[in-house]
Amino acid sequence: MTQESLRVVVSLDPEAQSFRPSAHNLTASQAVEYAQTLKLNGLDTKIVDQPKKHRTENAETCKQCKKTADALTEELHNSSGTQELPEQGQGSATDSEEPTP
Ligand SMILES: [Zn+2]
Repeated sequence: MTQESLRVVVSLDPEAQSFRPSAHNLTASQAVEYAQTLKLNGLDTKIVDQPKKHRTENAETCKQCKKTADALTEELHNSSGTQELPEQGQGSATDSEEPTP
C-alpha cells in the first residue's frame, strides 16, 4: 500500500491576523477542496505539506498543526509588516579605549 502524502489546511483569522489549523490528515485533493470551501466563506487559507500523519483527532487542538500555523503567522508578519529597525548609529563603541584601573 502506497502512502499518500498528507496536507494540513490552515486559515487566516482576519481579526487576529494569525493562521489557525483548520484540518489535517487530508489528501492533496481533500485539502484543495477544503481550502476552496473556506475561501467561499471569505477566509484566506494555506495548504501545507504534512510529512507524517498526526495522531490528534482535531486539527484545532493539534500541537503540530499549531506549530505550523504559528510559523506561517510569523512569516506573514515578517513579509507584509513594516519592519521597524531602530536607526542606531554606532552607539557606544568604545572598544578601542580600555579603561585602566
Ligand atoms: Zn495536526
